Parts: sequence; structure tokens; C-alpha cells
Amino acid sequence: MLVYVAGNPQAYPIEYYDADSQTYQGVIPGLLREFSAKSRYEIVYYQAGGADGRERLAKNLQVDIVSGYAQGDALPDGAQSATVFHTMQDGQDMAYQLCFTQAAPESLRADLRAFLETVSPERVSGLLIAEAEAPLNPKGLYWGIGGLSLALVLLLTVMILVVRNDRKKLKKARQDLETDDTTGLGNMDYLLRYHRQLINDWNRILYSLVYFYVDTDRLRRLSSGEETDDFLRYCAMILQEYTADTDILARVSERGFVLLKLSGNAQKLDEWFTPVFYRVRAYTQKYNKPFEVNMTAGVYPLEVKDRELDEMIFSAGQAAQMAAREHRDYVICTDGMLEKIEEERQLQADMEQAFAKDEFQLYIQFYVDAHSLKIVGGEALARWNHPQKGLLTPSSFIPLLEREKAISRLDYTCLKKVCGFLEGLLKQQVEVFFVSCNFSRETFAAADFVDRCKEIINDYHFPRELLIFEITESVSTRSMAQIKRNVLALKEYGVQIVLDDWGDGFTSFYDLQKYPVDGIKLDKNLVDDVMTESGKSILKTMIQVGHELDVTILAEGVETEEQVQVLQDLDCDVFQGFRFSYPLPDWEAMDQVLEQLSPRFPKG
Ligand code: C2E
Ligand code: MG
Ligand code: MG
Repeated sequence: MLVYVAGNPQAYPIEYYDADSQTYQGVIPGLLREFSAKSRYEIVYYQAGGADGRERLAKNLQVDIVSGYAQGDALPDGAQSATVFHTMQDGQDMAYQLCFTQAAPESLRADLRAFLETVSPERVSGLLIAEAEAPLNPKGLYWGIGGLSLALVLLLTVMILVVRNDRKKLKKARQDLETDDTTGLGNMDYLLRYHRQLINDWNRILYSLVYFYVDTDRLRRLSSGEETDDFLRYCAMILQEYTADTDILARVSERGFVLLKLSGNAQKLDEWFTPVFYRVRAYTQKYNKPFEVNMTAGVYPLEVKDRELDEMIFSAGQAAQMAAREHRDYVICTDGMLEKIEEERQLQADMEQAFAKDEFQLYIQFYVDAHSLKIVGGEALARWNHPQKGLLTPSSFIPLLEREKAISRLDYTCLKKVCGFLEGLLKQQVEVFFVSCNFSRETFAAADFVDRCKEIINDYHFPRELLIFEITESVSTRSMAQIKRNVLALKEYGVQIVLDDWGDGFTSFYDLQKYPVDGIKLDKNLVDDVMTESGKSILKTMIQVGHELDVTILAEGVETEEQVQVLQDLDCDVFQGFRFSYPLPDWEAMDQVLEQLSPRFPKG
């Protein structure tokens, strides 16, 4: 038997019209469906679209049942009500009801009333929760429930508000729970809900998750909390402008926005990024701010297997931070990159222990005299003897230490070990072996650098001139005045200074005048080019000028006999490279030095 129903299209989640499925959904339709399944009645909703046609349909007796009425609402003429469930509002019991029009057969009224008496309050709560978790429509309103606890909180809100049929208030409550206070965008809960609703196994691979990273720590330091929030709002506005209807944008953390973007391919994404970054970075100029701003992105292209939103956000966030570190606009997550990030994350966790357990080891790579090819000294190079990962070279941990502001700690640790090494040599009566030590820019440019070095060195006995400090070129481009003061103070103290990686970039002969250095180490790139005519000419000039300025010329990265020949012809002074030796643990280097430099004290 057919039963015609006119529903309330706006009484979400009690009863509402779902535009996408073009059906009525909610607690009442759910219950009516159950009733239908257990009886001989077939329920048919009048499809009034989003419009509320109940009055008209009831009046014209085109329906048997009209629903969507709270206790106290005026019922259509001649209609009889049946209570579906009770709820509390302002401490008052409130019944939610549907009405039978005069067209409804008596048997239907009796059967439906009897069915409704069997529906427990728990069953109604369950249906409300289920409805609250289901989409209103895919691109619908703000509202999400992250977990059961949130669902229960919401349920209370629903219970209180829904009986009034007050959809506006309900919507507001939903929005509050899912809105980021600063920017007005949706928050993590909002993103979670839409991710669950919109992204499925069929469409997932069409999307990319883009994490936009803003270094708010830095901004808050440079400006104020308020100015930082202004900038975040500006970013939100720009991002929103470039967010398509098919995409979902949210602010998921203090420093990050996430955009789930129907992306097509990486090329398209690149075009999309260009105006976004341009406009974000224009902020400083546009609002005449005295600080620089930046935003970078990490892109995680979704794969069929990707279901955990948290994991994807984490990866894209890491990629975005990597982009910031490497001064790139964006970085696309790849397996290799993610492995590298994970590796670094683990190393970061192990760093403190590495210092505490003295896991950083001193390695020495020999220098040989360019003419006699005899060992004359060595460069101190750090290695991390990691208990699980084995011996790690600087490229895998120095960037990490720099980021964590722990690089100076390593530099001073190495300096101490070098001093111990030099004192050890002297005790063995080796008096002519010099050791050079690398220092990062941060360490070398610090105002207390010289004092701290002296404090360490003063504890050891060896001729000061055997110790060489290497400054890299990047050191010399920043904090010029302080570096110059440090160089002069160190020279006065008696140690020597060498410019490392010389010729790799912007170092010029002019620098040699600015810093009274004792030597320059020609960068490996120059040495690699020495077999070409132009490379040879450049090196020849460099070495000549260097000698005129009375500095020693060292060549690093010498690997072949041919390079040795040419560099000898060019009158280079000292060589270092795999052609002569690899970096050795300090004790092994010590053994070799004793063997080669002090035949009077053979090993053993
Ligand atoms: P660097 O000071 O330019 O050191 C030379 C690097 O070139 C070393 O790499 C060395 O092993 C490598 N090398 C030497 N000869 C050859 C060769 O013939 N061929 C090739 N391909 N490579 C050669 P390593 O030990 O991996 O060190 C890399 C960089 O890490 C160093 O570059 C230095 O800047 C930095 N570093 C090492 N120890 C420390 C430290 O204690 N503190 C700081 N701040 N930096 C350090
Ligand atoms: Mg070096
Ligand atoms: Mg070097």
C-alpha cells in the first residue's frame, strides 16, 4: 500500500532534502523506511526539491503524512499528530511529531503509532549521530565530527537546536567547531570530514595534497603576534581566491594550510603556484611592512593506497619545510625524499645522545707536500659513529645540526679532539704536522667565538701555528665585521687561517686582502677542471696571484696522477685528495704519521 509523505526539506538532521541524491534523508525518513520494511506500506516522498511544499500538499490532501513539526507548531487543518521522539530544550520536554492528514487511512495511523512506540530513545540517538556524521551534501556546509566524543557534544547541540527546526543556529554551531579562529577558514576537523566525504578510492589519484608552510615563529620574532595573524589572514585570502569548487582548503596547524586539490599533473600545479606565491610575497611591499614574508609548499600526490590524512599532511608538511630550507617554492614528495626526511627525523631524535655518548669521531685526511708528496698535515673531518646506522659522513648530519642550532657544539667538540690529537703528536715528538679544522658560519661569526676557542686550546700543549682554522666562503659573505675581528684575534693568538672551498662561487681575490689569511684551499671543482685548457689557465692565474699575496695554495679533491702533474706544474703547494689518502680515524692517522714522519718511533 502506498503512503505519500510531504517532508520538511530544511529540518536537518531530522529530515532534509539531499540535493545530490534527490531524496529525503534524516531521522524521520530513516524511521519511516524501517516502518515500511516491517509492514505492507510503501513510503513515497513527494519530491518538492528544496522547497517546502507541505502546507499545499496537506491542504490539497495529496499526502497522507506531513512531517517536520515540533511541539507547539501549528499543524495543518484537520491533521492529527503522532509523536516520533522526545528531546529536551531549555530543560523542557519537547516532542517532535509528524501529522496524518485526513487522507491517511485509519489502519496506517494505528500501525505507524504502534511502530513508533517500539522505537527507543537510544535508537533515535543512534540515528541522530549517524546523520550528523553523514554529509549534508558533498560540497555542503561546515560541519564535521572527528570522533565519537565530538559526536556526543554535537548531539547535545543537535538535540537542543533541532527541535526548533532552527537550521541557522545548527549551522553556526557546526561552523564554530570547525573554524580556525584566526583566518576564518575550516580547521583540521573540517578537512577531515571533507576528506572522508569527497575523496574515495575512485577519485583519490586525481588529487594532490598541498601543504602551505609559513614560518610563524620567525614572523612572531620579527614583528608581533598581531602582525603575524594579519599575514596569515592575507595568505588565507589569497589561497581561497585560488581554490576551485572541487578543492578543499583548511588551516590545519599554527604554521600550515592544507589544500586538497584536484590537480591534474605537476606541470599544471606549477602554473597554479606561480601567481599564488607571487601575490603572497607581495605582501611586504603592498602593506609597506618592515619584514620579509614567505610561504612555501609541499605537494603530496595522492595514490590509491593513501587513506590516512594525518600521514599525508605530515609528509607534505615536511616537504614544505624542506622547500623553505632550500629556498625553493615547493617540493614534491617522492619516496626517496620521504625516506630522507624520515632518516633525518630519526637522526634528530638521536642527536642529543650522540653528544652525550661521544659518538662524533675525529677523522683525519692527510695533506701532502706538492713536490715531495710527503705527509705534512691533515684535515679534521667529523664522522658520526651511529650505533644503528654505522658511520655517517657530514652531508647526512651537518645540515641537520645547522637547522637544530647544534653545529657549533660539533665544531667545538671537533676542535677539542684536534687539540688532543696535536698534543698527542707532540708527546710522540712529531713537531711538524699541522691539522686544519672546519667551522661553520654560525660558529665562526659568533662574537664569543675566539674566547671559546682559546678556552679550549689553552688546555692543551702544542705549537699554536700547527692549528689551522678553515673558513668557508659562505662565512666570509655574512657578518663581515665580526668575522674580520675574529680572524685578526685568532691570528694574533697564533693559529693560522685558511679559506676553504676557494673559487666555488663568489670568493674573490679581494677577500684575500680583507682577511689576512695564510692559505687558500682551491675547491674540488677547480681541481676537476684542471685538465681543460681554460680550467688550467684560470688556476694558473689564481695560484700566481695567491703567491704574490704570500698565501699557501692547497688543492683539495686531487684524485688522479694527471691532476697531480698539472698542479705541480702550476706550482701548487699542498695536495689533499683520494689520490693520497682517504679520511682515517684519528688513531689510525696517528699510527701512520708516526710510521712515516718519525721513523725513530716505529709502530708497536
Ligand atoms: P670540506 O672541508 O671541503 O672537506 C673536504 C671534503 O672532500 C671531505 O668530505 C673529504 O672527504 C672530501 N674529499 C677529500 N678528498 C677528496 C677527493 O679526492 N675526492 C672527493 N670526491 N672528495 C674528497 P667530508 O668528510 O664528507 O666532509 C664534507 C664537508 O663537511 C667538509 O667539506 C666540511 O665542510 C664539512 N665538515 C666536516 N667536518 C666538519 C666539522 O667538524 N664542522 C663543520 N662545520 N663542518 C665539517
Ligand atoms: Mg674543509
Ligand atoms: Mg673544502
